[in-house]
Amino acid sequence: MKIRVLGASGSETPGHRSPAFLLDDSILFDAGTVGEAMDAQAQSLITHIFLTHAHLDHIKAIPFLVDNMVSTRPEYQLTVVSGIEVLHDLRCNIFNDRIWPDFTLLPNSDTPVLRYQEIKDGEPFRVLDYSITATPVNHAVPAYGYLVSNALGDTFIYTGDTGPTDSIWKRSAGHRVKLLIVEVSFPNELEHLALASGHLTPSLLGRELAKMASVPERIFITHLKPVHRKTIEAQLRELSRFTVKILDDENELTI
Ligand SMILES: [Zn+2]
Ligand SMILES: [Zn+2]
Repeated sequence: MKIRVLGASGSETPGHRSPAFLLDDSILFDAGTVGEAMDAQAQSLITHIFLTHAHLDHIKAIPFLVDNMVSTRPEYQLTVVSGIEVLHDLRCNIFNDRIWPDFTLLPNSDTPVLRYQEIKDGEPFRVLDYSITATPVNHAVPAYGYLVSNALGDTFIYTGDTGPTDSIWKRSAGHRVKLLIVEVSFPNELEHLALASGHLTPSLLGRELAKMASVPERIFITHLKPVHRKTIEAQLRELSRFTVKILDDENELTI
């Protein structure tokens, strides 16, 4: 498993792109960044996008990806996978023939460039050799974290955006989790804002990790608000029980 970090931040400033994690060149987890990081040839290898939720910073590269493909690669097909509420938001609020074309009808409805596929809580979804399971997390809108296992059972978890939550940690107990990508958006002093908006702070993260039956060796932090990075970095170092590393754009992780 090779994960390329196309974007790792919870907002945008130069050098800090929106969340997108590319597995083995073809499976994308969230789509906040594509076009700024990949040329058209590399984009054409993306077959599936698993969305954690429909917030703009996680979906905004999809319109340009399908726009790049529809006129140049008639054989290209993208499947966007997520919970039914997330797909509904995408269909009704983005690809609604007003904000952006309905690409499920283009270039024609028989072989469209864009398809939606629902994933249900706890039901493994198979792509390539991977088994991918969605678990609801605690965010301001319907949102899912993903457990991704290869044929050997090695697993990574991507929480997406979440505040304090339980089910994903419970579900992790049945897996050999090699790597965790988890969000921390705000510094400790903004805990009220983190809780109100469904996010974590360093100290909230410490409490979340303590819920895991066994804490993975490699823990990577994503979705920092770039303006708070220095403070969050210092506060993460105070989590003495756990060693965590902040992800940057273009990091590569292998399992
Ligand atoms: Zn976000
Ligand atoms: Zn969000």
